[in-house]
Amino acid sequence: MLDDLSDRLVDRLTDRALLTDQGDFPGNGRLAVRDPATGDLVAQVAISDATSARDAVDAAQAAFAGWSVTLPQHRADILHRWHALIIEAKEDLARIMVAEQGKPISEARGEIDYAASFVQFYAEEALRPNIEGVTSHLADAEMELWREPVGVAALITPWNFPCAMITRKAAAALGAGCTMVIHPSAETPLSALALAVLAQRAGFPDGVVNTVIGDAATIVGEWTGDARVRALSFTGSTEVGRLLYRQSAETVKRLVLELGGHAPFIVFKGADLDRAVAEAIKAKFATSGQDCLGANRFYIHRPIYEDFCARFTAAVEKLTLGAGMSDPDIGPLIHDRQIEKQQSHVDDAVAKGARLLTGGKVATDQGPLFFQPTVLADVTDDAAIMREETFGPVAALSVFDDEDEVIARANASEYGLVAYVHSLDPRRIYRLTRALQYGMVAVNRTKVTGAPIPFGGMKQSGIGREGARQGLEAFTEIKYVCRDWG
Ligand code: NAD
Repeated sequence: MLDDLSDRLVDRLTDRALLTDQGDFPGNGRLAVRDPATGDLVAQVAISDATSARDAVDAAQAAFAGWSVTLPQHRADILHRWHALIIEAKEDLARIMVAEQGKPISEARGEIDYAASFVQFYAEEALRPNIEGVTSHLADAEMELWREPVGVAALITPWNFPCAMITRKAAAALGAGCTMVIHPSAETPLSALALAVLAQRAGFPDGVVNTVIGDAATIVGEWTGDARVRALSFTGSTEVGRLLYRQSAETVKRLVLELGGHAPFIVFKGADLDRAVAEAIKAKFATSGQDCLGANRFYIHRPIYEDFCARFTAAVEKLTLGAGMSDPDIGPLIHDRQIEKQQSHVDDAVAKGARLLTGGKVATDQGPLFFQPTVLADVTDDAAIMREETFGPVAALSVFDDEDEVIARANASEYGLVAYVHSLDPRRIYRLTRALQYGMVAVNRTKVTGAPIPFGGMKQSGIGREGARQGLEAFTEIKYVCRDWG
């Protein structure tokens, strides 16, 4: 279980009661956290201002001097303890996540496992050599490359994976020897606070992990302007990513940007159609469609187009909707802007000639934040849904005739995060894999993520990679050392 606060929180969430007794926070406001399935108030969280954001950097900067020179084994031990505590508290963390984010409980449990896997991975990665030899070009000198922690890191995370997006960054930074200030999304502060409680309990020294909740522009703006913050790792929309890129220029921060996606899902004749349909359902409707890896555009080869449309629509019509604790296939969307976006993408596509095969409206029987799982066919390339992230349960299907055409259409996007390809022809698979301008290409499957892989996108889907060795190296600087033996 978590600490007293979180224990009470979990009890109250179970009863569907409200947490309102956290005391007063003079000078600062409170943030209301609402259950997207019901609109109920789940909790009120104290919010910080620019002064507190600066205080957090002071604390992280002070802690850096000690933490950055701890033995890697010491950092690994504490990371292993954090991992064990996350796994122990899995059910609580999953229920907190459902209450504030709305995702189905089995997906929330899966996310906790995924979040914990980064902590375990970087506990081990922290022990790998951090000094590399260089073949000398001088007769009287030897050279080494040292990897040193970059300094205080600012970590900014979204609401769709409220635990995993924090641990994917934080565990890598901690393993490297950095201290940090974390700003989670206003929609999901409780998951972030619960992880912070467990980090403190695992034994990270004071000032190493600092979680600050408040107005994003104020808090993050304070950090982007602070020269002591040496790295900024952001996961969120391309729009905000561009802004933080600009803001970080002034102090020349190291950047990792994990931004939006607009994944093409391409199915060729000869593919295993049952499998393609099953994987398409996962690629579109996991996390209720609110996933940067979510398939946004389905390109189906003409000989199998009508068959795919029929089978896919039949599978979509079987999907269940409901509040996360009832473990449906699809939960609520996070806020009404998401609902408006679904409706506008559907209406726009239909106005431009698309056929609505199923769904297309708010599922009012469930509540205002539920949208019917929707399939559109014959969607034209000029429809907004073929260019913008939909981030919801609306699938846009379109027909193609040949390989070159579909490669060109798939690449005609400012995004380049992930592409899905279904085919059983190895040469075709090779050609597609080479030609697609995406940071990740998934062939005949949907799940690509995991702690050991470098996750990230090309083009305006971002800069840098998270996960794998690269995720830790993003929080380090290379120091080149040349020693004279003359
Ligand atoms: P968002 O960009 O609105 O917010 C992300 C974070 O930035 C939040 O913490 C938010 O508080 C903060 N933020 C918002 N406005 C800000 C501002 N003006 N200044 C500073 N910080 C600000 O994104 P979101 O709606 O929370 O998440 C959805 C987006 O995240 C989608 O575009 C999705 O594709 C993307 N995403 C990408 C990945 C990936 O790994 N590439 C993973 C998950 C989500």
